[in-house]
Amino acid sequence: KNLQEDNLRAPVVCVLGHVDHGKTKILDKLRRTNVQEGEVGGITQQIGATNVPAHGVQRQTHMVKGFDMSNLNFPGLLIIDTPGHESFSNLRSRGSSLCDIAILVVDITQGLEPQTVESIDLLKKRKTPFVVALNKVDRVFEWESNPAKDIREVIKLQKEPAKNDFDRRTKEIIQALNEQGLNAALFWENPNPRSYVSLVPTSAISGDGMGNLIAMVCDLCQQRLNKRLMFSEELQCTVLEVKTIQGHGTTIDVILVNGRLREGDTIILAGTEGPIVTQIRSLLLPKPLKEIRVKGQYDEFKEIPAAQGVKIAARDLEKAIAGLNLQVAYHDDEVDLLKDDVDREFKAAMRSIKVKERGVYVQASTLGALEALLEFFKANSVPYSGIRVGPVVKRDVMKAAAMLEHDPMYAVILAFDVKVEKDAQELADKEGVKIFSEETIYHLGDCYVEYIKDFKK
Ligand code: GDP
Ligand code: MG
Repeated sequence: KNLQEDNLRAPVVCVLGHVDHGKTKILDKLRRTNVQEGEVGGITQQIGATNVPAHGVQRQTHMVKGFDMSNLNFPGLLIIDTPGHESFSNLRSRGSSLCDIAILVVDITQGLEPQTVESIDLLKKRKTPFVVALNKVDRVFEWESNPAKDIREVIKLQKEPAKNDFDRRTKEIIQALNEQGLNAALFWENPNPRSYVSLVPTSAISGDGMGNLIAMVCDLCQQRLNKRLMFSEELQCTVLEVKTIQGHGTTIDVILVNGRLREGDTIILAGTEGPIVTQIRSLLLPKPLKEIRVKGQYDEFKEIPAAQGVKIAARDLEKAIAGLNLQVAYHDDEVDLLKDDVDREFKAAMRSIKVKERGVYVQASTLGALEALLEFFKANSVPYSGIRVGPVVKRDVMKAAAMLEHDPMYAVILAFDVKVEKDAQELADKEGVKIFSEETIYHLGDCYVEYIKDFKK
């Protein structure tokens, strides 16, 4: 596949772990931004991407003893955040299928929890190398922080009570990892990095160990991924989000894992009304170390090689669907073939969702969000009879209205993060279809659960 031996791309690093263990905060610390506090409901609802270029790696790791930047033969890291809540398992699985390497975040005060274990299973299944961030080490009893020092020294400098507490908690977590079938050790005690997972104590609040974490990820990439990171011209690109940006209209955020994108390329991707064929108007990259989801300044490029999180501006993206692969047609006669490919992939994803004969109608802005929403409803025994990715239009209301005959309690549209067209709302009011529209998945689920309670009174 014309792999380029002396040209490595940035590894895609996925951050996984149980909710609230500090995934987003670790990325915030790297970026020195505050995405975690700015998020709706404090939950990461989509996969975001952060570019950490080589000079960023250098800046973050200067205190790490024995870490030699000159060995680094890839151009930096591309880090993907994933949501930790239970009902996002589809998104987590999609995130982990994109990534070359992972950081598993474990709160040192909490140990392994259900989504930690689920993440471990995903990583094992895909044989993805990973390191464990033993996060919130600042919460260790009488811990004294020193982010300017190598974490090994910081630990040596702790007083007896902190040391004991740290040792006890670490031992327990190693034990729990053993029970999951993993050998694990603190990274400086690791007898064999090929068969033992390394633990790196970190604090996303104080910054302790953050340099060591980055250095560890880079070391693991060097040791394990040299072949895998060889740049290939074969395009591998996944759409993460569809977004409207001032001055650029509707754009898509993609993860370009391999190959390259060029201004003017003909791209083909899934849309709510069938495959979309359009030309790339501009290729945009966020300024280095800025999260792609944070509003701000973008740089424009003529050509972008993998791996990068890229924003694409083009016409006709309003109906694009996130969560699936994007293709490029290099010749006109490829367009129809690729349209078929894209259509097939989308239909397969929708078919894998089983709907009931009677139930609510569910709509979301992205395939990933739709899947997450449906997981939530399944867990709460809410049946669904119809699903769609895209804004609420009259046609959706008519479908939901069909439930009025069977079971009025299901004559409901649950819309997550999508527009409700004015004429659709008017029709709904006239027909007696209730539309719930919310910006967080849990609010939406809870709203309906409340509604049902009242309905049954
Ligand atoms: P996520 O759900 O895994 O993304 O977790 P978040 O990054 O949203 O963090 C959850 C909570 O834990 C937030 O209130 C953070 O401020 C807090 N937190 C994250 N990392 C640390 C840490 O290293 N130390 C302490 N004390 N709190 C942390
Ligand atoms: Mg998060």
